[in-house]
Amino acid sequence: MTELAKCIGCGATLQSTNPKEAGYVPTSSLDKDDVICKRCFRLKHYNEVQDVELTSEDFLNMLKSLRNEDGLIVNVVDVFDLEGSMIHRLKDIVGKKKVVLVANKIDILPKAINKRRVEIWLRNRAKDFGLNPDEVVLISAFKNQGIDELLDTIEKVRNNKDVYVVGTTNVGKSTLINRLIEKSVGEKEVITTSHFPGTTLDMIDIPLDDDSYMFDTPGIIQSHQMTHYVTDKELKIVMPKKEIKPKVYQLNEEQSLFLGGLVRVDYLQGGRRSLTCFVSNELNIHRTKLEKAEDLWQRQIGELLAPPYSAENFDFDNLKTTEIVTENERKDIMISGLGFVTVDEGAQINIVAPSEVEITIRKSIL
Ligand code: GDP
Repeated sequence: MTELAKCIGCGATLQSTNPKEAGYVPTSSLDKDDVICKRCFRLKHYNEVQDVELTSEDFLNMLKSLRNEDGLIVNVVDVFDLEGSMIHRLKDIVGKKKVVLVANKIDILPKAINKRRVEIWLRNRAKDFGLNPDEVVLISAFKNQGIDELLDTIEKVRNNKDVYVVGTTNVGKSTLINRLIEKSVGEKEVITTSHFPGTTLDMIDIPLDDDSYMFDTPGIIQSHQMTHYVTDKELKIVMPKKEIKPKVYQLNEEQSLFLGGLVRVDYLQGGRRSLTCFVSNELNIHRTKLEKAEDLWQRQIGELLAPPYSAENFDFDNLKTTEIVTENERKDIMISGLGFVTVDEGAQINIVAPSEVEITIRKSIL
């Protein structure tokens, strides 16, 4: 094989080192003629998409090439890990294009949530990232909820233009694209092409009508996602798969809750009250007195307080304390990648977490 052999489906340079990157083929296929990469193979034979990840260099290329296209941007985010799934430089490619913000994994949130408040929160956060979505749609790609509404919304907003679906890895973009292929394409042929000459990006095009297409862009790797700070085994515990069962704790002042061994919630002031934790059902929560908390953390990390499963994986020198006061209304304290804690008004709380983990606060969605 020459180093520049390309996939005949999408044009990506073939490689056999990273199955998650574009152009992956098993080593045994590298020497053959007319090779197609694993992603194109699956698409061709099973009508099924696998996402590939994008390095920052590829990302810059994609930014450049998408910036000049006219069309609708469909930005898929994880409603449970919004901080980790917002694309920081998306506004650079959006320009004057319209945006539909799609919040996936809605099935993980308890049924009792107020969807309107979720939408307002999403719009506010999008604004912080310089985006002003034309529509916000809540879906579960996994449970097939909201997909028809999403297709209708896309049809309404796109104005006969092409559609670009963007998202960071793990937001469920492939699951969604597969749903969209099932629904909107049926028997029609789905093809992969190298849409932008001069880049190695393979994009999946799904025909929308005679003149326009929906393009699936590669998943963007976001360095501050929680997923990059825990091991795969730990991630299975930390990332909820199913609807969260809220856990309610009655706390006195000066008591602490440990979320696994990753984050500590210190309840400081506001009388005896309840704190409700919305985290993965598998994540262990431990209550203790504030005065004992520091020592317990140091001694029991990886044991009673886990995940992390190994003390070496946790850097006590890299913790940050965020002070929170819930003044006059119920708030959700969002711990990026882990979940949220709901607290009524009039409480003073400190969150101690690894400094990469973003702590934000929103009007409660319950
Ligand atoms: P991609 O990297 O964005 O293409 O994400 P995938 O489609 O591979 O999905 C990432 C993970 O999220 C997988 O474990 C999926 O099963 C899961 N997932 C995708 N969509 C949903 C959803 O709507 N709800 C839930 N609970 N999980 C989902």
